[in-house]
This record gives sequence, structure tokens and C-alpha cells, in this order.
Amino acid sequence: MFFRFVVFLSWQLAGGLVGWWKAGPWGAAVGAAAAAWIWFVWDMVRGGRVLRWLRHGDLAQAPRLYGLWGEASDRVRRLLRQMQGQVQESEQRLQEVLSALQASPNGVILLNAEGCIEWCNQIAAAHFGIDAERDLLQSIGNLVRHPDFSAYYAGRDFASAVVIAGRQSTPSRPVRLSVQLHPYGQGRSLLLSRDVTTLEQADAMRRDFVANVSHEIRTPLTVLSGFVETLQTLALPSEEQQRYLALMAQQAARMQSVVSGLLALSRLEGSPLPGLAEWTPVAQLLRACEDEARALSALVAPEPRRVHALEFPPPQVLQSLGEIAGVPAELQSALSNLVGNAVRYTPTPGTIRVSWTRAPDGGAVFSVADTGPGIDPVHIPRLTERFYRVDRSRSRETGGTGLGLAIVKHVLQRHGASLQIDSVPGKGATFSVHFPANRLRVPQLPGVVSAAAA
Ligand code: ADP
Repeated sequence: MFFRFVVFLSWQLAGGLVGWWKAGPWGAAVGAAAAAWIWFVWDMVRGGRVLRWLRHGDLAQAPRLYGLWGEASDRVRRLLRQMQGQVQESEQRLQEVLSALQASPNGVILLNAEGCIEWCNQIAAAHFGIDAERDLLQSIGNLVRHPDFSAYYAGRDFASAVVIAGRQSTPSRPVRLSVQLHPYGQGRSLLLSRDVTTLEQADAMRRDFVANVSHEIRTPLTVLSGFVETLQTLALPSEEQQRYLALMAQQAARMQSVVSGLLALSRLEGSPLPGLAEWTPVAQLLRACEDEARALSALVAPEPRRVHALEFPPPQVLQSLGEIAGVPAELQSALSNLVGNAVRYTPTPGTIRVSWTRAPDGGAVFSVADTGPGIDPVHIPRLTERFYRVDRSRSRETGGTGLGLAIVKHVLQRHGASLQIDSVPGKGATFSVHFPANRLRVPQLPGVVSAAAA
């Protein structure tokens, strides 16, 4: 400021001296006044340049000046640069927060005080069928029209979540969303949506499972306690007593098979995945299947000569089938289960054909085809569910628990194999298991070897 004052005085002095030199004392006064005016105008021009620049605020266009205006514009420039840095930093932080919300596995919508969308992530857009850009500042109440959500939104009680059907929900593939509003700031709110379809399905499955187990155990238990009561209260002849005891043993055996089936499933779920270290000859598995099938057929046949026609690969072919890697007991139980079902569900004297063929991908296909009643295609996708039976009484008559195919599916999944079920109702069913190539060790290329080819 002092320097500025000195410059102003210097100008006046210089003007005064020039005036004195030209016109004496009056000239000095006029010269000093003129110099003061020139300095004033020059100062105004410099100030004007600074003001013009400040109006635009473009850092690159800052005027290069000396003196007071130069220092003022320098300071403003520094301040602006500092503010610009802070704005950029905040912008970057905001982008990072939005990216984190975008990466969230749940739907996130930020609503303003009027309930309009300020921002939403892609998951929320998919959940509610909204467009993250087009629907900005649209009211959420207008966009999400599900009656349960509308009631929840209108009720203003957001202590808990509401579960609604998702936008992509169809009757065959239901999508369930848990939606909750979390108020924050001044009237703003955060709307979170979570896909709970699998959770709800798992919950429903658990409830069904408990209900099924209770039902499966309760039925024989009721019969059993009825017989016990009868035996306790009535003095029955010994023949009748023996008949009752036999029926009681049958019911107890039924409960036992349900319990052992459930234990088998829980063992499968809890044990480590089978490795590739243990190899079992396929011939050994198929021979055991054949022995069990013949015994079972003899048991279910109404008379000894009316057993099933069981077709298995002949002994010379069995030797060429190689070995399979996995847990032998599990593999045996899965294959025997399929053959056992074919025997149990095919009326005598039906035919059951078992084959083991090489698949084009180097794997192998174990298949059991029967000439029984077959299965209506509507039931096929559900056959491997626990306790699912096409005909409950038929299954019970043949000693079934409804757990057999669930165990088979589990064993096969653990061994990287898959189950395919084909059937023409009234003509029979074919259960085929595809084993992957990495679990097979074959001495030579046997080609198709089946009972039919033998
Ligand atoms: P179950 O103990 O009742 O036999 P599974 O899980 O082994 O239970 O089989 C489920 C259902 O699949 C059976 O109840 C039966 O209705 C049907 N099923 C299985 N194998 C056959 C088959 N070979 N032919 C016809 N139906 C079958």
C-alpha cells in the first residue's frame, strides 16, 4: 500500500515538474492534477482487467499485473486453485462412494425429501425395472406400483422391510425382493432392496422337509402304537398276535429305512468330495447290482417262475469296462438304487436292461431301462426331491421311502456325474448316468457293450 502511495506521489511530482518546466507554478499544479488523473485512469483500467477476469474465473486467463492489482489477482488465483483442488477431491470421493454403492450386491436408491430418485445403482434398476438416467427425479411411489410397497410407503413406518415380487418375477421363476427404507439427513431416505428368492425357497424347503419327515415317521408310528394298544387290551389268539407282530415289524422297518435314508443324505452332505485315488472295477459294481436285482426280483415276484427278465452285460464284456474313481460304497448304492427301482416299479414278468457304454466325450453312460409303467413327464423334474413320489401308495407297497433318487442325485453330483430320466408313460422308463472321462480308466476301447449287444 505504501509503495502504491509512493508511485502515486511520484506520478504527481513528475507531472508537477513537467508543468513547472513548461508554464511555471500554475503549470506545476495543472501537471500534478493531470498526472493524478492519468494514474487514476490507468489504475481503473488495471482494476477493470482484474474484475473482468474474476467475472469469468478462468484460471488460465488470469491477467499478469504488477502492484496492488497484480498481488490481488495472484492471491485470488491461488485461492481459486486451492478451491478447485478441494472440489476435485470431493468429486473424486463422491465418485468412489457411488462406485462402492454401484458394486453393492443389493439395490440402492437415494431419495430426496420429496421421495424422488436422486441416484440408483444398476441392481436397484433391475429389481424395480427403472432406468437409472431416464427416471432420475421421478417419484418412487409412482415408479414402484406393487400394492404392498405402496401400502408400506404410505404407512411411513419403515422399522422393518416389506417383501414384494420383483419386476422380473414370472410364475415359473418367482423373484422375491425385501425392500426397506432408511430415513437420513433432512427428510432424505435410502431405499435398499435385496433378492431373497433363494432364502425364501430354502426356508420353504426346510419347512417342507420337516413336515415330510414328521409325516413319514408319524404314519408308521400311529399304526405301531395302534397295534401295541390292541395287543395290550385284547386277549387275542396266538395266530392273530403273530400277524399283528409281523405288521408291527413291517412298520418299524419302514421307519428304520426313512431314518437310514436321512442319515445317508446327511453323511453325503457332510463328507469331503470323493477324490481320484480310489479305483473300483466297473465289473464289480455291475455284478453286485445284478445279484441284488435278482434277489429283489425273486422277493417281489408273485411266484418263483414269474421273475423279471434281467439283462446285464455278460462276464466277458464286464472285464473290458475298466475302472471308475470314487467312493465304492456310494457308487454301489447309487447304481443299485436305480436298478432296484426298475425292479420294484416294473410288474413281473417285465424286462430290465442294464448297460454301460462309452460316451463320445470319453466318459461312460450307465443306463437302466425298464418296461414298467413309466413316469408322466410332469413328475420327472421333481423325482430327485426328497420324499417326492409319483404314487405314494405304490412306493410304500414296494418298501420305498421317497429318498432313493435324492441319494442317487447327491452321490452323482459328488462324483461329477449327471442323471437323465427319459420315459414314455405306459411303456417304461430309462435312467441314464453320465460319468465324466476323468473318473474312468479303461484298458481298451470296448465300444458299446450292453446286454443287447452281447
Ligand atoms: P421311492 O423310495 O418311493 O422309490 P425314489 O426316490 O427312489 O423313491 O423314487 C421316487 C419316485 O420316482 C418313486 O416314488 C416312483 O414314483 C418314481 N420312480 C422311480 N423309479 C421308477 C421307475 N423305474 N419306474 C417308474 N417310476 C419310478
